Amino acid sequence: MAYDSDNIFAKILRSEIPAGTVFENDHVLAFRDIAPKAPVHLLIIPKGAYTDFADFSARASDAEIVAFNRAVGEIATRHKLDETGYRLIANIREDGCQEVPHYHVHLLGGENLGSPFKN
Ligand code: AMP
Repeated sequence: MAYDSDNIFAKILRSEIPAGTVFENDHVLAFRDIAPKAPVHLLIIPKGAYTDFADFSARASDAEIVAFNRAVGEIATRHKLDETGYRLIANIREDGCQEVPHYHVHLLGGENLGSPFKN
């Protein structure tokens, strides 16, 4: 899948639309989800143009991958979620119901989220 530079997260990265930024470094941006599904619902994205986890894991540099994973942990800690726990979700392409085609991880917490495997 080719990267669509008009996707909403690319626009956020170019500051063309606002975001509730909570974290930023050379490789990573994190901001509040516009439609939160938990008391804390953040989106963590690499600054590079990657469509999804598969693309990121295959093409990103080691430095980008390390920075991304460390940022996820640091953001969770800063929001005190490491004390009570949290959930990471990455939706990938059609079967994963990914809506925005720029790789992102959802970080959810702030309450007991229940099992994702119970209907
Ligand atoms: P996904 O289904 O994994 O692609 O999730 C995309 C997420 O992006 C959804 O949870 C949306 O609520 C969120 N979202 C869409 N537009 C914005 C925006 N402008 N700012 C923050 N979050 C957004």
